[in-house]
Amino acid sequence: MVTVTISGADKSGSLARISTFLVRKGYRLGAQQVAESGSGAKLVKVSLDVSQVDKAKLAAEIGGLNPDFRLVAVEGAQSEANLIREMAERFPDIAPLVRAYAESFSPETRDQELFQAGKKIGAFNYEKEWSLGSPLKMPVALRRTLVPALEKLATVEATDTSVTLSDSPFWGGSNQVNCCEFLTGFIRGFLDAGPLTSDTRVQKAACRARGDSHCSYTVGYVL
Ligand SMILES: [Zn+2]
Repeated sequence: MVTVTISGADKSGSLARISTFLVRKGYRLGAQQVAESGSGAKLVKVSLDVSQVDKAKLAAEIGGLNPDFRLVAVEGAQSEANLIREMAERFPDIAPLVRAYAESFSPETRDQELFQAGKKIGAFNYEKEWSLGSPLKMPVALRRTLVPALEKLATVEATDTSVTLSDSPFWGGSNQVNCCEFLTGFIRGFLDAGPLTSDTRVQKAACRARGDSHCSYTVGYVL
């Protein structure tokens, strides 16, 4: 359960309006109540039957319903550690989880946190799916292990030193938090986990978030 608090609910009928709206958006609602802030303004509190919400999206939707409404708090959302565990379990269907994770950080630290989370999931994926085969060197490792792993997430084009995703699920459009740095970390963690590919450098080379036609990552290594 996640409880959201919305301010600007002073007009009568606000609670009903917000609840109806959330149900229409597909949420199952738990407890709903009108509370009062310290200054006497009315707040609507509604519990949603989900483990996390896309804060930015919900805030925009609530504001769209009525400009007076403002999402002021989201409580009870899953912890970051739980989200990472869930990413490991649900791979490759992880883009919504990665986005929820990204939204729990401020813009200043978000990319770094995404990179670190990606690294964990990349390493986990390598250990789980690929560590039993004989270790491969670059660029064979890229072609035979990294690319198939990434292909579970999106269509991938690869060279010996780069991977390109024309439609990365981590770029969610211009009104969404960009999560492409998760993949930088994923590739890095994945290759680090391979005994013969632990000395690679991974960089994001192009990104739809900055106007490029695709997202791509370069992988540097010494043969
Ligand atoms: Zn991107």
